[in-house]
Amino acid sequence: MEQLAIFGGTPVRETPLSYGKQYIDEDDIKAVAETLRSDNLTCGPMIAAAEEKICQVTGAKYAVLVSNGTAALHLAAMAAGFGQGDEVIVSSITFAASANCILYCGAKPVFADINPDTYNIDPASIEKLVTPRTRGIVAVDFTGQAVEHEAIGEICKKHSLTLIEDAAHAIGTRYRGKPVGSIADMTCFSFHPVKTITSGEGGAITTDDEGLYRRLNRLRAHGITRNREEMVHPLDALWYNEQVELGFNYRMTDIQAALLLSQFGKLDRFAARRREIVARYDRAFADMPEVAVQREIPESDTVRHLYILRIRPERLTCDRRQFFDALRAENIYSQVHYLPVYWHSYYEKLGYEKGLCPNAEKYYEEAMSLPLHYSLTDRDVEEVIEAVRKVVSHYRA
Ligand SMILES: *Cc1c(COP(=O)(O)O)cnc(C)c1O
Repeated sequence: MEQLAIFGGTPVRETPLSYGKQYIDEDDIKAVAETLRSDNLTCGPMIAAAEEKICQVTGAKYAVLVSNGTAALHLAAMAAGFGQGDEVIVSSITFAASANCILYCGAKPVFADINPDTYNIDPASIEKLVTPRTRGIVAVDFTGQAVEHEAIGEICKKHSLTLIEDAAHAIGTRYRGKPVGSIADMTCFSFHPVKTITSGEGGAITTDDEGLYRRLNRLRAHGITRNREEMVHPLDALWYNEQVELGFNYRMTDIQAALLLSQFGKLDRFAARRREIVARYDRAFADMPEVAVQREIPESDTVRHLYILRIRPERLTCDRRQFFDALRAENIYSQVHYLPVYWHSYYEKLGYEKGLCPNAEKYYEEAMSLPLHYSLTDRDVEEVIEAVRKVVSHYRA
């Protein structure tokens, strides 16, 4: 039998393959260079153009571009009015920022468990956690798959909750034909380089609510307004603006917006390639009972950001860590998304304890993300599959 590279054999790949990576072409570079030669490096025409593009792609009425996805979540949580004494229910398997935005506002994150097969927030778990203090939900479209909007929407309606959708993974995804970004009260996107399209750093909030839109716009720039209707002391002077609340500088530059707009031009191509790779992985792993793949709900037409491979420990002699390390020795660099948020030591210090979300904790012990990005070649994909097969056959129980 061929030896595993971890024990000194030849790795399946010669060079490391990372789980995620941006794809930048000459058009992107040209777009950025043009903006650098223009008069506006920030607050210029590219911001408005990219915001219009986001509205077009998501079907939302309004879009507000901000400096990153975390800033988007922060402003959305503020605009939702979350504050001291409020509880906000959030997915347990997500990047910490999804819950941090609740803490930024002085409210309390309440962690909901995941569905054990889709890995998205479980509406039944949400329902159990609603109290008279609950003000909202931060639901994450994990891996790009839309959350169960129908069930979540009913809970929101029944208890008058604000739904913030963390769609950092989900640009381009549709739920029952409706694009993500046009469903929740506010939807937050990230354009970090590992996400499906990038602006270097960047984020956006979409909404159909004009009041929320105005507030988000103001909060993005210090809480300062030029709109006389929003002023306490309106003054009819061209130079006059007024800070009416405490905001931030969360603006995106035009340089980034130019890159983002150019990347939007490739979104359909990126999505199609990601779908192809997901289909190839799914087909290959269907024949391996030692691993499990994510279940897709039929309502979600998903542009997948992450591909999760889950080990089935009862069929293997190794744990996730050994599996992960063995893949890495084959030069397949997977990643784990994510530690249950409340397992972070900061959250532990706040008083959250292990055992809160059993499905999330079990998921965390078994999951890893395989390489999934536009620039993977067919050969790269086959090598990932070959490496998984090799590790599986070595550790088969
Ligand atoms: C990436 C990400 C964020 C944060 O986005 P940044 O642009 O990196 O600030 C938030 N939530 C999720 C689920 C993410 O994956």
